[in-house]
Amino acid sequence: MASHGSVFGAMLQEFEGAARILNLDPGLWKMLTHPKRQIIVSCPIQMDNGEIEVFTGYRVQYNITLGPAKGGIRFHPDVSLDEVTALAAWMTWKCAVAQLPFGGGKGGIICDPTRMSRRELEALTRRYTAEIVDLIGPEKDIPAPDVNTNEQVMAWFMDTYSMHVGHTSTAVVTGKPVEMGGSLGRREATGRGVMITTREAARHLGFDLQGATVSVQGFGNVGSVAAALLAQLGAKVVAVTDWKGGVYNAAGLDIPALLDYTQQHRSVDGFPHAEALDRPAIFGLDVDVFVPAALENQITVENADQIKAKLIVEGANGPTTPDAHALLHKRGVFVVPDILANAGGVTTSYFEWVQDRHGYFWNEAEVNEKLEAKMVQAFAAVLETAERYKIDMRTAAYIVAINRVATVTKMRGMYA
Ligand code: GLU
Repeated sequence: MASHGSVFGAMLQEFEGAARILNLDPGLWKMLTHPKRQIIVSCPIQMDNGEIEVFTGYRVQYNITLGPAKGGIRFHPDVSLDEVTALAAWMTWKCAVAQLPFGGGKGGIICDPTRMSRRELEALTRRYTAEIVDLIGPEKDIPAPDVNTNEQVMAWFMDTYSMHVGHTSTAVVTGKPVEMGGSLGRREATGRGVMITTREAARHLGFDLQGATVSVQGFGNVGSVAAALLAQLGAKVVAVTDWKGGVYNAAGLDIPALLDYTQQHRSVDGFPHAEALDRPAIFGLDVDVFVPAALENQITVENADQIKAKLIVEGANGPTTPDAHALLHKRGVFVVPDILANAGGVTTSYFEWVQDRHGYFWNEAEVNEKLEAKMVQAFAAVLETAERYKIDMRTAAYIVAINRVATVTKMRGMYA
């Protein structure tokens, strides 16, 4: 059972809610609640000052029943095996909800990339890749960007892997630069998926996004794109907070201007065309939609009751604790869960992998059209399940995912 503060414990609690309703076979229950493989590596790096530092890295392949493990790599001081295992489990359910032929994986390195030079980050990425090289590959495990990693990190990863295997292998990672086999639309895909699921949820709840107010926690690759695309649909993004500060403008923030500002200042903090907002104040704002797009464990029992939004769309992975989620559900807040709301990123990663393997590339409109279809379909399947069982969208998403993975696990049967 969940130990207090454990991210994997939170995942298990969510799983349990769905598995009970499904009356899941006890053997399958055990299989689906254990990670297949957890890899821990030490990465010694010579720092710019000449000293050697040793960084701990993880790669967890949670489940590979539906296909190769798939999921990002994060660089963050708070990375732990517990967190990476939970994130790998969430990737498993996310890929199943989106009907992608992938299992779930995740990687992470305990480091503070804001205090490292480009050369140190490259050395760390290459050493980590080399340490796990035998366990990854286009048919085995395909990393991607996550918190604090980007296209450049994927390029180093792909190069290191290719040097080891002796030929260029583009399909070993996704979220690469477009020039070297990346997909058009991949960078915006997670935020675009958040926009699509927000739009579908608003339609279901019967309110118009045109003129609706939105607050966003986190202004990285997910939050910034979601904010920009929601603003394009006519929503008023009134508040944004990030790792450093927050901004508020009742008339709606100028998102392109805010993006320009953050590119220069690394934070929204101090943006001139808005009032300053205390970071924790993001939870209590009187808005229609709240998009948590930062890290896990943000919406807790301490702040869940302050939330006035009628719709929460989880751009981040695991932003809401299970207890907080129960409170929100009781109050009638409609939560589009992470494993559905942020599945746009891995969906376009899947398109990237397909394009790499075919050596034939699509234009951006084709990519976005396919993403739109996948997201609308996934949303509809989860909503239909929620209505059929009269349950919340998170439990419904787990039911859809567990059903798909359990069905194939049974079909494939037991080895040995
Ligand atoms: N890191 C993203 C996620 O959490 C994307 C993973 C991927 O594209 O493989 O979904």
